Amino acid sequence: MPRKYRYGEMTWPEIREAATRPCVAVVPIATLEDHGPHLPVDTDLMLCTSVCELAASRAPDRVVLVPAINHGYSPHHLDFPGALTIGPHTLIEYGLDVCKSLAHHGFERILIVNGHGSNTPFADIIARECVVHTGALAAAVNYWAAPGVRDAAEALRESQAVGGMNHACEFETSLYLALRPELVDMTKAVAELSHRPSKNYWTDLIAGDGPLAMMEHWSRLSRSGVMGDPTKASAEKGRVLLDAAADGIVELVDELLARQIPPRADHH
Ligand SMILES: [Zn+2]
Repeated sequence: MPRKYRYGEMTWPEIREAATRPCVAVVPIATLEDHGPHLPVDTDLMLCTSVCELAASRAPDRVVLVPAINHGYSPHHLDFPGALTIGPHTLIEYGLDVCKSLAHHGFERILIVNGHGSNTPFADIIARECVVHTGALAAAVNYWAAPGVRDAAEALRESQAVGGMNHACEFETSLYLALRPELVDMTKAVAELSHRPSKNYWTDLIAGDGPLAMMEHWSRLSRSGVMGDPTKASAEKGRVLLDAAADGIVELVDELLARQIPPRADHH
């Protein structure tokens, strides 16, 4: 029988065994929120969990894939029907409790893979808090920032160099088209680049953000919910991006596995 890598499918003795061998517990985290008139509200969740599933299937001997934390921080999206948000402290406590439980069972390395931009600071805090409060090594990454993804995305980009890949955009729509094309209505896809970039403020998933960190209510930034250009999306691009993201996550898993966890030294 091939090795199980999905946490939820394992028995407790199998989890006990997995925690004793070199492996990384991968915890996807996302949200549900509007993604324009052409994409489902589960876009961040679908893309993040699919990347993690593909990565885990490529490294089943050294990844344990934990069921995703579905809900995230999306209060700025509540002007659009669909967003389900949890509070910032709830998100931190929830994610940290999951990671603490994993550490309690013996998992020494945990990788939080985030699929929603506004979860980024919270995923970072969860990983930091897990390190401080457990013996485990925990880290966080946005799947679109995994190694190799930026180069792959920039090579494919047809949308505006900054702003064309933001939200329900060329990037996210391509990935969804590669995964579940029957749920994407490209006849409703609209390009919208209305977030008013200025000298020190701009955002792009792939090109990066300007130095001014700021998130306004989404309805001030976009009429359709889109930020970017989904009309440039294709399933072919999505397959390349999915492949790159999965490989990037496996690279991070191996990097965490190779990292020593030296004992602390209390110098009091
Ligand atoms: Zn998204």
